[in-house]
Amino acid sequence: MKILLNKDDLNEALSNTSKLGFVPTMGSLHEGHISLINKSLKYCNKTIVSIFINPTQFNSRKDFNKYPRNYKKDLSILRKMKVDYVFLPNKKDVYSPIRKIPIKLKKQEKILCAKYRKGHFEGVIDVMERLTKIIRPEKIFMGEKDFQQLFLVKKYIEKKYRSKIVSCRTVRNSKKLALSSRNKLLNGKELNRAAKVAIDIINFKKKIKNQKNIKRLMEIKKKQLGKLYRINIEYFELRNTINLNFSNGIKNSKLFIAYYINKIRLIDNF
Ligand code: AMP
Repeated sequence: MKILLNKDDLNEALSNTSKLGFVPTMGSLHEGHISLINKSLKYCNKTIVSIFINPTQFNSRKDFNKYPRNYKKDLSILRKMKVDYVFLPNKKDVYSPIRKIPIKLKKQEKILCAKYRKGHFEGVIDVMERLTKIIRPEKIFMGEKDFQQLFLVKKYIEKKYRSKIVSCRTVRNSKKLALSSRNKLLNGKELNRAAKVAIDIINFKKKIKNQKNIKRLMEIKKKQLGKLYRINIEYFELRNTINLNFSNGIKNSKLFIAYYINKIRLIDNF
């Protein structure tokens, strides 16, 4: 496994690679990341994993500083998996040169997390575009856990580059909680509560399958979830997976939730 610390290392290492698979991450690797990496190892000739905690996608310095970091453990996982390259760039390397025209979301894209985390996806698209430009992968593996991120990155990147975004299913633990690096910031009781939220929504989705008054049922469920599991819900919405417009039936649609459990913000979709 080659560790690449800057653009020069990267250019030298990748000069003769074909069918390159890329898995962008912010580290603190878990089974969710591992499933993406395994997919890349299976379908591509070479696999590169980046670990870069992108400062521009955080809404506050505090949130950025609090984000879990486990570089030593991450590298040992990647080495065991026989990943070909790990890219560990620094901020200066990623963010030069300065972008002339800033990334701007369209009005209709300012929904779900984009509505509540101003500037977040602009930061995500910016870094994804920069990484794609220097890595030039054939495929980029991304998780449905962050569905809106996957949706927006696919739209922006595939329009400009030849790289294809491959969507990968959400990996959950045995209690149905979606794996996330942020879970490391929760204690045991909070993790159990978050898992119960997931199970409740999975059952709710089955129940509303043939119902007509889904909007009303969702309003009631949103209140119930908040009260029962002591969570602060930012949004709980049913949207179709093609264009993320509101939906009133579960066909081609997903339930999207973002909530705070104590001070930690979690997102999921079902
Ligand atoms: P992150 O390190 O949180 O930026 O995530 C890096 C990639 O892993 C993103 O494409 C995420 O969507 C994906 N990912 C994170 N958690 C999961 C999960 N539980 N299942 C599948 N993919 C995931």
